[in-house]
Amino acid sequence: MTQNSKNVVILGATGSIGASTLAIIEQHPDKFKVLAISGHSNVNKLAELARQFKPKFVVISDSSQYTQLSRLISDECTVLAGAHELAAICQLDSADLIVAGIVGAAGMQPVLASVKAGKTLLLANKEALVLAGELVMKAAKDNGAKIIPLDSEHNAIYQCLPDSYQCGNTPRNIDKIILTASGGPFWNREASTFDGISPEEACAHPNWDMGRKISVDSATLMNKGLEIIEAHWLFNLSDDDIDVHVHPQSIVHSMVCYQDGSVLAQLGEPDMRIPIANGLGMPERIASGANMLNLLQSQDLQFFPPDYEKFPCLALAKEAIQAGGTSMAVLNAANEISVDAFLKKSISFTSIAKINAEIMNNTALAGIENVEQLLQLDAEVRANARQMVKHYA
Ligand code: NAD
Ligand code: MG
Repeated sequence: MTQNSKNVVILGATGSIGASTLAIIEQHPDKFKVLAISGHSNVNKLAELARQFKPKFVVISDSSQYTQLSRLISDECTVLAGAHELAAICQLDSADLIVAGIVGAAGMQPVLASVKAGKTLLLANKEALVLAGELVMKAAKDNGAKIIPLDSEHNAIYQCLPDSYQCGNTPRNIDKIILTASGGPFWNREASTFDGISPEEACAHPNWDMGRKISVDSATLMNKGLEIIEAHWLFNLSDDDIDVHVHPQSIVHSMVCYQDGSVLAQLGEPDMRIPIANGLGMPERIASGANMLNLLQSQDLQFFPPDYEKFPCLALAKEAIQAGGTSMAVLNAANEISVDAFLKKSISFTSIAKINAEIMNNTALAGIENVEQLLQLDAEVRANARQMVKHYA
């Protein structure tokens, strides 16, 4: 470890983003030291990572697994458990970079803790911003925290903005941004057959290898909807300034259209190690281990307008931004429950969008006040969505 190496905290180290982050860190032992890792319940995987990367702290967020994990690794590191400790490792004085790789609203509090401590936050956990974007962006500004998006589209936009750009500000001199979307596995599938889609089919993404929740979100295009909301908060833009182009090859990761007519894009292989290496290495460019894009060998690059009727979740996200306040948090909570029910084979693929829409219509809109209000709302909406799942089962 050199004097200039950065101490990294990895939230969700046992997941797909966690694995890609650790794969880059492994290539640069002189540049990074893993200070702390977290995982929810996979004790053996956490223990294996702890032995390999030797962090000082390991947090298991499901406290019921604490004793089992402690038995395996407490000689080698400090083992902690629960949501409070998850937030605490984000505020360690020695932490330089926090990688937010937890899936879902469970990542909101550690994300908030990171920005309140003025840390540099490498953000993959889009649900935290969908749920609490207003609070996260304000806390980041108030405490001088820097947010670097890891989601490939948002990282692409970030790379196409000037070096001096800070997330939370509206970029200067732009006309709009364009988020690209692969279209997911069902872009060309006949909508009348959507009811028969299985979780396995939905999780088999044509271009990206990801966790199961985001894979289903990519199949419904809810992922792109959540990403419009994510872009709305990160880049301080209205939904009118955020377009979506379906680009089945996933080579152009997104674009910034400037007022002079210039369009800047970031291209690369569809490999999350590229945006993650960008965030970890900033301001340097470091090797990611990804293959270099060769446009001579790429297929034609195609772009299509999104189909809002076939994929109604995309329209729900736009409605939520326009409604403002708690509506984005409501959509996020409903979607987490409906996707989980689909993955457990309790409801059909098309019921995901129906439940999300019905919950949005049935929930009163309010302004965002504080984190306690959001946590309560999140719990209430989840309970309502679980009831609704029973009707669709
Ligand atoms: P994943 O399911 O592979 O991993 C999720 C991680 O979160 C695991 O470490 C798990 O232990 C942890 N976790 C799950 N539930 C938790 C809880 N209740 N409390 C605390 N920790 C919990 O998911 P992923 O694909 O790595 O996605 C992580 C986040 O990154 C998501 O928000 C996703 O939308 C975003 N993202 C992922 C990709 C990708 O390629 N995988 C790309 C862009 C954005
Ligand atoms: Mg993305």
